[in-house]
Amino acid sequence: MKKILALCLMIVLSMSLLTSCSINTYKPISIKYQNSDYAPYPDGEHKTLLVDLLNNSKWHNDVAKCDCDYTVIMKNDREIFYHSECGTFIDYDFNKSLTVSEEDRVKLNAYFVDSICRSEVHFFDENNRCTACGYKLSK
Ligand SMILES: [Zn+2]
Ligand SMILES: [Zn+2]
Repeated sequence: MKKILALCLMIVLSMSLLTSCSINTYKPISIKYQNSDYAPYPDGEHKTLLVDLLNNSKWHNDVAKCDCDYTVIMKNDREIFYHSECGTFIDYDFNKSLTVSEEDRVKLNAYFVDSICRSEVHFFDENNRCTACGYKLSK
């Protein structure tokens, strides 16, 4: 009887651990720029840097008051926001924000632009030309 109780307790504990982990762990799967379509976020160094920054940095317990131009969507459907001008992530669900270093901001912005263009979402201007890579949508 004691064994069964201990086993149940372990299951409950590990389940709550698992769920809390999945909520607090950032697993980016896609990204969008302003009102663009969602672009899948590429694996490799793009993802390694983003995952590392989001999960291994010290977040502040307040939401920075700034504009956001990117939305990053996580595997669990949560969304966080990013402002490329100052390199700040905002997580409204948990009321916290993270400003990355200038070096990481430059790298991240390049990766984000690349992620959008790679998926052919692009940063189209009024002439259907991408302001980042120059791709022109033929109609
Ligand atoms: Zn900002
Ligand atoms: Zn482009």
